[in-house]
Amino acid sequence: MTGTLTIAGIGPGDEAMVTPEVSAALAAATDIVGYAPYVARVRRRTGLALHPSDNRTELKRAGEALRLASEGRHVVVVSSGDPGVFAMAAAVCEQIESGPAAWRGLDLEIVPGVTAMLAVAARVGAPLGHDFCALSLSDNLKPWPVIERRLDAAAQAGFVIALYNPISRARPWQLPAALERLRRHLPATTPTVFGRAVGRADENIAVTTLQAADPAGADMATLVIVGSAETRLVPRPGHAPLVYTPRSASA
Ligand code: SAH
Repeated sequence: MTGTLTIAGIGPGDEAMVTPEVSAALAAATDIVGYAPYVARVRRRTGLALHPSDNRTELKRAGEALRLASEGRHVVVVSSGDPGVFAMAAAVCEQIESGPAAWRGLDLEIVPGVTAMLAVAARVGAPLGHDFCALSLSDNLKPWPVIERRLDAAAQAGFVIALYNPISRARPWQLPAALERLRRHLPATTPTVFGRAVGRADENIAVTTLQAADPAGADMATLVIVGSAETRLVPRPGHAPLVYTPRSASA
């Protein structure tokens, strides 16, 4: 029996943001592998084996998925958002690169999903309307000085910056330090968006400025977008302001 391995992005939370391609992959699966809260979002059915695991065990989880697929199972690894953005697709690639040669022969498919920064951006307007970049603030997998260097470079280069993994109980000071860093380069009035749990029942979207941005408003489920010097705020009567970055930039 030939197994398959699919790595699917189930979007930020809302069922409506799961693409039909991902739904089809889930419907064809014999096994679901992933971080427990994401596995819990997959509809149970008879014949579908669930393999929930802890956070922070990405490589082990990737290895488990590859083993199951090589035993002939149809395995879907689920990631929140998009699987290629700070998520399982790279962990599976790492395991394929370093693991048994047979894993390279496996039938592998990566199915994209709506990543958090796109869902948050859509809620407030078009902050990613011009050049932007995404950074993870987690220093679990890279040293903090690298993050500082990238923040400086991104702000100086005029990119809008999406910050994934801004803060956690184990990483309380990184977001305050990053905002402080960005304030060196960007105007105090730079529009800044905190998008929390977008697409879930406890969603909260807050628009503020870089100067007033309060790290206490962020948690592990928050995506922060810091505008560039070009990003604008358009007040609207009876509606939340629009945050957008014009399509053209000045010299
Ligand atoms: N693969 C995921 C990102 C995983 S990293 C994706 O493409 O979205 C985890 C980080 O993603 C969180 O710390 C947070 O910054 C962001 N995130 C994930 N889901 C989110 C949601 N529903 N709302 C806001 N941010 C979210």
